[in-house]
Order: sequence, then structure tokens, then C-alpha cells
Amino acid sequence: MQFIDLKTQYKQLKEKIDKNIKKVLNHSQFIMGPEVKILEEKLAEYIGVKHCITVSSGTDALLASLMALGIKTGDQVITTPFSFIATSESIILTGAKPVFADINPQTYNIEPSLIEKAITSETKAIMPVSLYGQCADMEAINKIAAQYNIPVIEDAAQSFGAEYKNKKSCGLSLIGCTSFFPSKPFGCYGDGGACFTNNDEIAKRIKEIKDHGQNRRYNHIRIGINGRLDTLQAAILLAKLETFPTEAKAREQIGERYTRLLKNSKAVCPHILPDNKSVYAQYTINVENREDFAKKLKQKNIPTAIHYPITLNRQPAIAQTDKKYPIAESAAKRVISLPMHPFLSDAEQNIIVKEVIKSID
Ligand SMILES: *Cc1c(COP(=O)(O)O)cnc(C)c1O
Repeated sequence: MQFIDLKTQYKQLKEKIDKNIKKVLNHSQFIMGPEVKILEEKLAEYIGVKHCITVSSGTDALLASLMALGIKTGDQVITTPFSFIATSESIILTGAKPVFADINPQTYNIEPSLIEKAITSETKAIMPVSLYGQCADMEAINKIAAQYNIPVIEDAAQSFGAEYKNKKSCGLSLIGCTSFFPSKPFGCYGDGGACFTNNDEIAKRIKEIKDHGQNRRYNHIRIGINGRLDTLQAAILLAKLETFPTEAKAREQIGERYTRLLKNSKAVCPHILPDNKSVYAQYTINVENREDFAKKLKQKNIPTAIHYPITLNRQPAIAQTDKKYPIAESAAKRVISLPMHPFLSDAEQNIIVKEVIKSID
């Protein structure tokens, strides 16, 4: 059994993907080829925003967005302590400091009511993460941000395809950033990412930043990065985009089925808030004696993963250990993710559920 199955998807879309790859090999415009622009137009339309700027990874999407907002040394960015390192890493790369606000114990996303307490005169952005495929409470976050005139960047690396109050993740704040890392809900065959915004000026800046700060060839008006999405990856994503809504639906149904089947067990299942549609980037439960539990599942050939075992404030490279984030720290000790992908069969899921229930008690 696989934790994430990428091969089945390739087998199903092989003809289209191979054809698109071949097309790029034939025209050989490997950097900024025509597929990149077509993809950006289609993605902007899918999300329902004016601009999509593709970039080389989710991390670069966050970094380019922060750079476009002029975030620099001495600034502070409020974010969650419970995420993948890239969220804080991108902030630190600009010279700014991540300031953490603890999470909500039910959703694992940043708790909006704790954001306001973390705001100082140095706060220059708020970066919530839509963790495990469920959007952060963006309306509450945007409201606080608007009061203090602070921009919001949604780290939507895990939530491409998710919905919040009938709007798509990535289009819920000033800038939305996603990742096309292969195991994310909408993945390519290498690294990739994108920024989304309705703001013309920010779109222009991100476009320049991802291409060495040039506004035309060899005219560099700002310091940027080498942050472009490869044409080959764009061609692969174009082939996958048509079936993506079906896959997102399958993910949601598989996630909901897990929750139904585990309802009477001791596992604490994902809590999806009303007005939210999760893409279940991970199906993450909360258990006691996690180590023992994982070992028992492994013996039955069921892979699991931990997202994430150490809160960001405790990572050696960040080491902000003076402050405590008890909800995030408790989650880091207890969460464990079960196999999750759009091709997980009912039969496989039944086996997983049976073993989960046996291993918990
Ligand atoms: C994967 C991920 C990123 C980074 O994306 P890459 O494409 O791997 O650079 C950032 N934030 C979160 C929450 C992620 O899960």
C-alpha cells in the first residue's frame, strides 16, 4: 500500500501528458515557453482571480510575494508555528522575523483571535497556512489585517482546489501562494508553484522578481531570483488540470468516508468547518501513543507520516524557544497522517480503518 499514489494518475493521463511533454521537446522553449502563459491564464480562471504568476516552487511563491510587498530586515510577519519549514523560511530569507500565533485545536490552522495580540508597529504581513487542505479562517484574518492595514498572504501550498465560503483557496486574500510539488493536491513532476492576486501592481512586481528583477531583457529594476516555472512542468500541469476538479472531489469524498468510518473510534478526525471544502492534502488524525500506533500500522504494511513532528519555533534554525505555543506543541506530539490520494479504493480504505481502530485500542 502506498501513502500517496502518483503512478495511477500518470497511467490514466499518460497519453495527454506524454503528448504535452513531446510538444515542449519539439519546440524546445524550455524557459518561459508558450505553455507557461497558457497555464497562468487557465489557473487564474480556475481560482477566479485576475493574475496568476507561476514560479519555481511553493517556497519561491512565498518568497517572491514577501519581496513584492517590500518585506525586509527588521520587519515582522505573523504566521503559524505549525507548518512545513518553508512558511517561516521564506520570511527569514527576506531578513524579517516570523512572529508566531498559536493554532486552533480543531483545525490546526492559525487562531485568528491570537493574531491581534501579536501585532506590533513592525508587523508588515500576516501569513496564515491552509493546513492539510482546509483553508484558514481567512475572513476573520482579513478583518484583523484590514483594521491595521497589514497585507495577508495565504500559504495555500496544501489547499489548491479547496473552498472557503464558495471561493477558492489562493483567491482569499491579497496574495495566495501554492505549490505544485508532486505530492501536493495539484502536483507536477518536479518543483513548481504559483502566486495569485487581483492586484495589478503586485502581479507586475512578482513577475519581475521571479525573473531576476527584469522588466525587459537585461534591464534589472530590482533584485529578484531565478524563480521561473519550467515549460515542461507547465505542460504537465496543463495535461492534469482538466481532470483536477474530479480528483479534488474524490479527495473530499475519501476524506469524508474516513471520518464516517472512524466516527466511533478513539481517533480524533479532521474537523472541517461549515462553509469549507477540504482537498485533504493529508488525512491527519490525532492519537495518543503515536509511536506505538505507527509501529502497529507499519507491521500491517500501512504507511503513515507525521506532519509535523516539531513546531517551527523549536526548529534549530529558528529557535524561538522563549515563547510557548501549547496547542501547536501538543498537536506536534499527537498528529499522524493516513494514506490519502484520489485513487485510494474503498477496499484499501476499509483495511486501513480496521487496523487504525485495532491499533488505537
Ligand atoms: C509544501 C509546502 C510549502 C513549500 O512548497 P515547495 O513547492 O515544496 O517549495 C510551503 N508551505 C507549505 C504549508 C507546504 O506544505
